[in-house]
Amino acid sequence: MDRARALARELASTVRDQRVLQAIELVPRERFVPPPLRRRAYENVALPIGGGQTISQPVVVARMLELLALHGTERVLDVGTGSGYHAALLGRLAAEVWTIEIDPALSAAAAATLAQLGADNVTCLVADGWHGLPERAPFHAINVAAAPGPELPEALVRQLAAGGRLVAPSGADAQHLTRLWSRPPELSEEVFERVRFVPLRQP
Ligand code: SAH
Repeated sequence: MDRARALARELASTVRDQRVLQAIELVPRERFVPPPLRRRAYENVALPIGGGQTISQPVVVARMLELLALHGTERVLDVGTGSGYHAALLGRLAAEVWTIEIDPALSAAAAATLAQLGADNVTCLVADGWHGLPERAPFHAINVAAAPGPELPEALVRQLAAGGRLVAPSGADAQHLTRLWSRPPELSEEVFERVRFVPLRQP
């Protein structure tokens, strides 16, 4: 895992959360990219994973994990499984992860990879991110890895537990990482750096 360690070191200039950096060191990103791209798996870049989708850039994944401020006890919803890499990291940082994906082929491939790596607290389901997973709500953390546009999906906001955090790339044209933090009766919203994600599709 020397290459993963080098990646974690590189990210340490941007990301302070030591648990996040440790998770980056422990999850083999090469298992989540197509074999011809494996030699590039530890570069700090997004890479194509098939189906017109990409595995997100490591620094963006790490920042989103940091913004979720996880302690290890949380029940998490991850929207847009893709390769499953982000979900695998969430599995190391929280208690229980439900990851949903609209493309059944991507979901099946991610489930196989996660099973091979023994990520048994991560469950892959085919479902629409605009609706979330009401049957498993509420969630202490919700990670949205596709861009919903100017408005955050209302169903997801409703599925946030008291004290829960939601992180998503939000905005009409330019997307920015946005964090909602539920502190009843308030729901605070903070806007962070600019990012670029594929759209959260309408099914
Ligand atoms: N987190 C992923 C990368 C996400 S790319 C990783 O670690 O590899 C965004 C993913 O969101 C794509 O796989 C895409 O198919 C999925 N997606 C797009 N619209 C969706 C929707 N409405 N519901 C669930 N998943 C969706």
